[in-house]
Amino acid sequence: MSELLTSIKGVGPGREKQFHKLGIHTVSSLLSYFPRTYEDRRKIYSIKELTVGMTRGIIGTVIAVGEKRPRPRLSILEIVVTDGTGSLKIVMFNQGYKKNFYKKGQRLYAYGKVEIGYGALQMNTPQMENLGPNQNPDTGIVPIYSLVDGVSQYIIRSAVRNWFSVHGFMDEVLPPSIGKKHTFMSRYDAFYNMHFPTSSERYEQARHQMAYEELFIMQAGLALLRNKAQNYVGHKMEPDGKLMAAFTEALPFTLTRDQQQALYEISCDMQDERPMQRLLQGDVGSGKTVVATLSLLKAIENGFQGALMAPTEILAAQHYEGIQALCHNLDITIALLTGSTSKKEKQDIYDRLADGTIQMIIGTHALIQDSVVFDRLGLVVIDEQHRFGVEQRASLQKKGIHPHVLIMTATPIPRTMTLSVYGDLAVSLIKKMPPGRKPVKTYVVDTSYTERLRKFFEKEMTVGHQVYVVCPLVEESEKLDLQAAEETFLELRDYFYKRFDVGLVHGRMTPSEKDEIMERFHAGDVKLLVSTTVIEVGVNVPNATIMCVVGAERFGLSQLHQLRGRVGRSDIQSYCILVSDSKTDVSQERLKLMETTNDGFELAEQDLLLRGSGQLFGVAQSGLPDLRVANIIKDIDILVQARQDVLDYAKEFGIEQLQTVMSSELSKRFGEKFIRILYN
Ligand code: ADP
Ligand code: MG
Repeated sequence: MSELLTSIKGVGPGREKQFHKLGIHTVSSLLSYFPRTYEDRRKIYSIKELTVGMTRGIIGTVIAVGEKRPRPRLSILEIVVTDGTGSLKIVMFNQGYKKNFYKKGQRLYAYGKVEIGYGALQMNTPQMENLGPNQNPDTGIVPIYSLVDGVSQYIIRSAVRNWFSVHGFMDEVLPPSIGKKHTFMSRYDAFYNMHFPTSSERYEQARHQMAYEELFIMQAGLALLRNKAQNYVGHKMEPDGKLMAAFTEALPFTLTRDQQQALYEISCDMQDERPMQRLLQGDVGSGKTVVATLSLLKAIENGFQGALMAPTEILAAQHYEGIQALCHNLDITIALLTGSTSKKEKQDIYDRLADGTIQMIIGTHALIQDSVVFDRLGLVVIDEQHRFGVEQRASLQKKGIHPHVLIMTATPIPRTMTLSVYGDLAVSLIKKMPPGRKPVKTYVVDTSYTERLRKFFEKEMTVGHQVYVVCPLVEESEKLDLQAAEETFLELRDYFYKRFDVGLVHGRMTPSEKDEIMERFHAGDVKLLVSTTVIEVGVNVPNATIMCVVGAERFGLSQLHQLRGRVGRSDIQSYCILVSDSKTDVSQERLKLMETTNDGFELAEQDLLLRGSGQLFGVAQSGLPDLRVANIIKDIDILVQARQDVLDYAKEFGIEQLQTVMSSELSKRFGEKFIRILYN
């Protein structure tokens, strides 16, 4: 079906260009352009039956047309229609050019919400269709597509309809046994009912089936990837040894039960010759780094090298310092490699990595450069994995002969999400925080609190604590956002002039400028730090007790939760203040949720419900297919079913068979990068 759009009756080069505007280039992408919503036009109502608030369709004849121009740039077109039972005013804004389209005596169909204007019933910009004297409107359940300028519902509807009218068949995608098991309709019927539902029940079935198909394909891809990884022969390690014991001995605390459990799972994996593929999940500050360090030591005591890759320089440096401090009593060689490591030092590190002198390397993307060659890489730890794509993850793995891989993430990922996006990984979970932490108190306020907030900052700083003020930076207007952050910085600097040092850090700064200011905050010289969103996820300043987020409604709940995790890192009471003037119910409700729950998982689920999975993970970047119909939260039952079906199918017919039957659809849906990993 990668046929040209122009093969459809009624679609010429002109229409084809219009479809391009919607990102539709082939027949198959047109057919997969599912409606945004539907209108139930199965019944035509009489005007007399209409009351305010209902959304209905009527047929009427135009009895008056007039255009008003209350202001130079505003034109209001008013059309009065009657159907013999009453009359209705139709109002359209700035569409005066349509005046001649609706002449007196013209019969038309209008579908829209009934409102009241000057005591009479009216519809504002309804869906309209002119009708001939005996012509009936498009009835049934009518698809409504998302549009861009210059493309009408009619253009899409008629092209799709014309395709279906000359074709009676579509290639199946799912294996026949699956279709039989679920008594699915033909794929042709499912697509047809997505566009032109023949009944609500049929539509529900079609939607269910399409969601299932998407999830089946995704799960099949993940199963193949997992299978590939499991067939590798990696490094089988010995049970926990002396280095790990010495480290644990010297720790100023004991590991929590969750940490012990996670470590146990990791150890078991590493003692198997199949390379580990494990996700270590835990809220910010839950103590993942300690577990990761122990895992790295396990590789080292078995004579291997370990690598830890972090997404930013600041994070890498902080890990380096933290881990070095934790390992102070051990006789091992640790190095840091980032983009800002000097050329000479880099070369030295390359040499010592290649000859095996460096046992543990911590760094950024710099670790995946071609010049980096390991002697015996046994374990790769990747921090904050969702910032790396599948491909980058693979590049570091390639540095060793199938090393074990541990991925750490502080974004709490609901179970549903681990099943789908991380379907190729086993999961260890650190759920409980180390003892002695006080939950952060969260408050939502508006900008009328600005003065009171400053007093509050002052109070905290006076007793030696520190404050973060975050101003959001959104890509569309980065410049303006930066100005806003700078303004906030200047105001606060003036306000606290000569009493407390205020710093500013933002995304336009060079890494070394950022590092310098972060360093000063870390050291406690800067007491209040204004920043755009560059406060890196893992930055650790236990002395900070206030996280104030300005324009909080612009962040996802998970992001806010991450920011909140910057404070409350000690036994001092900390606060998270969310400032927002947004009065919409949705944003108020979202922010209120931050006040009531500290559970990152719950917040992440809400995010997924409200904003879709892309927001949370950058699905595009991860190389996973886009979900057009399925919603990972709402369709969790379908997802679990599809996953089970994939596993059963592979068991019954073999994984190669799964790959064979799904291969064409897999290459269509998954990103190129993903495919490259799967098939190389
Ligand atoms: P994460 O990497 O999950 O954000 P870290 O490993 O950086 O968390 O730990 C956060 C802080 O908690 C660190 O200062 C660490 O030393 C401390 N910590 C970790 N585990 C424990 C524990 N079991 N008991 C007390 N403190 C701990
Ligand atoms: Mg951390």
